[in-house]
Amino acid sequence: MKLFPLFADLNGRPALVVGGGAVAERKTLALLEAGAAVTVGAPGLTPALAALAADGRIHHHPGRFDPAWLDAVWLVVAATDDTGVNREVSETAEARRLFCNVVDDPALSSFQVPSIVDRSPVIVAISSSGVAPVLARRLRERIESLFDHTLGQLAGLAERYRQRIRAGHPDLGARRRFYDWLLDGPVAGLLRQQRPDQAEAALATALDQPLRPAEGSVVLVGAGPGDPGLLTLKALRALNEADVIMYDRLVSDDIMALARRDATRVSVGKQPGEDHHATQARIHALLVEHARAGRRVVRLKGGDAFIFGRGGEELEYLREHGVRYEVVPGITAALACAAYAGIPLTHREHAQSVRLVTAHCRDDEDNLDWPALAREKQTLAFYMGVGQLDALSRRLISHGRAPDTPFALIENGSRPEQRVLSGAVKDLPDLARAHGIRSPALLIVGEVAGLASRLQWFGSHIDGGQGDGQPQRLAA
Ligand code: SAH
Repeated sequence: MKLFPLFADLNGRPALVVGGGAVAERKTLALLEAGAAVTVGAPGLTPALAALAADGRIHHHPGRFDPAWLDAVWLVVAATDDTGVNREVSETAEARRLFCNVVDDPALSSFQVPSIVDRSPVIVAISSSGVAPVLARRLRERIESLFDHTLGQLAGLAERYRQRIRAGHPDLGARRRFYDWLLDGPVAGLLRQQRPDQAEAALATALDQPLRPAEGSVVLVGAGPGDPGLLTLKALRALNEADVIMYDRLVSDDIMALARRDATRVSVGKQPGEDHHATQARIHALLVEHARAGRRVVRLKGGDAFIFGRGGEELEYLREHGVRYEVVPGITAALACAAYAGIPLTHREHAQSVRLVTAHCRDDEDNLDWPALAREKQTLAFYMGVGQLDALSRRLISHGRAPDTPFALIENGSRPEQRVLSGAVKDLPDLARAHGIRSPALLIVGEVAGLASRLQWFGSHIDGGQGDGQPQRLAA
């Protein structure tokens, strides 16, 4: 180990920053955050540093570096762009046995400032011993994504209740189990829901009772359309913490690869011979069974769980059965497919609203408001429409939408095999058949769909023209 890691208490202690530029400003702000009494020595200051000096929040030594500046300080940072001055500061500090950091110069530094993940009071510090700062920053980003921002609040709560927890659970094993409960259970959940008062009340109540067995919970997570880069940080954390993951057919393998390795994975897609009702009943029963066994269950759905995802039904069932739950939104297919096909869903002139529609056009199920759907100046996004393109195209036109209204049909949106087929709505069924478009695919109808040929940037694009052999353009 080349450097000894150390967390210094600078609260109220004088520290010196030499230099008055942007880098010095950053270092000054960091030192102030730790409560140091900062003096900045430099001929001139950035406006922000000058404002801090004017407010009396820092002290300013004007002029060139003077060794006397080191007289009363605990720590020195040299942040000038003059190597000579930096060296002089470093050597003077060395002679006085003061720790000195010269920014970006490990050879002249007797201490280094790590990259940090700040969830105060918890701080994770990362150092590459000055060898590869870029690597340290990368690591920092990775670690940053792992921990929810409420971790600091949780640690603060644990600190305040430390004595009471110790008194209530004198046995070390029991105390460990209590802390596990605190970190994984309802207290952490309530903090994530931004209910600090209820979190504290839950902790206080639990302290007065014997330790209960672990309480399970369900997180309903939207996995997005397929590209794992479209997962939210919260979704990733939930996947990392899950004991059981119940996932749908639409969830991509790339996303499952990111989940905790020893989580039990249960595929809960529709089984042969089962109707929707039976599938849903089986899923409900499984969710409650796992949660009641004290497990952390992630219910993972394609796109967003509340957009044609039956998320509402599952939550109602959990509520009825007293199972705690959280919801993490996902990027729904309409948003992802539009983005990955270069189609803005709204447009100042051509589309003032967007409708997300489920394409059930079979006569016995069709209760869509076709006259409203056929109106101009709106964008329609049809889910689950691949089997119904004939009816969709026919009904839109018969209710008044212009036959040459552009459409874009996005197959496997955001996945490596994405294809976008665009054309005029009157040609939609023929074009889709000719190119063999299969589910999952999302249909976008409206003037904005015409932009796909020009703005496409991902996957492959098939331009079906406007029926007159011309590629279509959005009218200026
Ligand atoms: N809850 C999901 C939708 C489920 S319904 C969401 O919010 O996205 C299933 C339909 O979503 C599919 O029939 C298809 O129309 C659409 N869909 C889902 N993923 C898709 C993808 N990667 N590309 C294109 N369409 C997709």
